[in-house]
Amino acid sequence: MFVDIAKIFLKAGDGGNGAVSFHREKYVAAGGPDGGDGGRGGNIVLQADSNLSTLADFRYKRKYLAPNGANGGGNRCTGKRGEDLVIRVPKGTLVKDAETGRIMADVSGEEPVVLLKGGNGGWGNQHFATSTRQVPKFAKSGVPGQSAEVVLELKLLADVGLVGFPNVGKSTLVSVVSEAKPKIANYHFTTLTPVLGVVSMGEGSSFVMADIPGLIEGAGTGAGLGHEFLRHVDRCRILLHVLDISGSEGRDPIEDFEQINTELKTFSEELSTRPMIVVANKCDLIEEEKIEEYRTYFEGKGYAFFPIMAAIAEGTKELIQHTAAELHKLPPIKVYEVEPEPIEDFTKEAKRDFTLRVQQGVFIIEAPWLLKILDDVNPDDYESLQYFQRVLQSSGIISALEKAGVEEGDTVSVYDIEFEYVR
Ligand code: GDP
Ligand code: MG
Repeated sequence: MFVDIAKIFLKAGDGGNGAVSFHREKYVAAGGPDGGDGGRGGNIVLQADSNLSTLADFRYKRKYLAPNGANGGGNRCTGKRGEDLVIRVPKGTLVKDAETGRIMADVSGEEPVVLLKGGNGGWGNQHFATSTRQVPKFAKSGVPGQSAEVVLELKLLADVGLVGFPNVGKSTLVSVVSEAKPKIANYHFTTLTPVLGVVSMGEGSSFVMADIPGLIEGAGTGAGLGHEFLRHVDRCRILLHVLDISGSEGRDPIEDFEQINTELKTFSEELSTRPMIVVANKCDLIEEEKIEEYRTYFEGKGYAFFPIMAAIAEGTKELIQHTAAELHKLPPIKVYEVEPEPIEDFTKEAKRDFTLRVQQGVFIIEAPWLLKILDDVNPDDYESLQYFQRVLQSSGIISALEKAGVEEGDTVSVYDIEFEYVR
């Protein structure tokens, strides 16, 4: 079975904890703090692999965890960082947040994509020595790695997509113009998985043509076969609409044409405006003047019209040359933009989870959600600081600090940031 959609859970590695340790040497009393930092957690990385053509692997394995960073050690030893987990996906895999539908990545290039970041390691106590605090007996925890449930969606990377009813000769066309050998047979739905063929134009120029299964009525609204395959023509720059112009199965080519276009429109308004070329196949089964009548009809509607006999590759050369020339005028294959994460207003939110511990007069706050805000806080900007202050207020952190006895000038420590408490 062809699998082109999958839902999986991904989690980047947690950062390792910082160490509490003191330098020890024979005959040397009371060495300084030398606790090393925790190692960084491994990232979740996606890599396009041209050898993969389906998402079938993800049917069986649905959970992917990158390794955590190791804890820091004594003697200023930083914990080993967690290795990145590289997940191979077929070229053209779109990654969406399963909950919100937000596009997180479009893995269609060669470059690896860092999808989720591993957490930073916590600082060891070597960082916390000050003139008034020479024996820091605390270190920081590592930051949790990012995690997400995502939907992988394969959207083939093809310049040209073939659409049309079953049995009109789409697979035959691909087989005579490219090296691809899709299954051809005189019954409906022989093509169950899309097939990509490279059409070589000589002199290093070529384009990719996708043979997708035939559409059936109601495909646009998801009835039966079709809807899921329309996804694959989504990126195509040109659609070749293949018709059995002879109406050899008792069908009317114009009715077929309109029906498929309605399906495309139902699936996507945008897709229905894609440049389209009409390919009239099976011309061997129809008289010349009938073909010319159809030509007048389709050209009258503004379409380029190419009568062919796919089975014997008659007329296909002209079709391919015209298609290549049209492609030349069009922008490259669509690559989806990554959608930014929605901006949450943290000041509006009610109580949020956090932990507060007080060690040697330092008020240590841990709350993974705060990291997002800390990333954005600009300590030199008054408004930015005000916002941070409001977040601390609305989340209940300020009142917890006060309850714990914080006083003016005390040190408050949030991950990599330390600041003095000001009322
Ligand atoms: P698809 O379902 O659109 O992929 O159609 P296929 O390529 O599998 O072809 C369906 C049938 O039409 C096969 O039996 C082909 O041999 C036949 N066919 C393809 N091209 C031509 C043609 O130019 N003339 C005739 N008479 N039959 C053709
Ligand atoms: Mg076919």
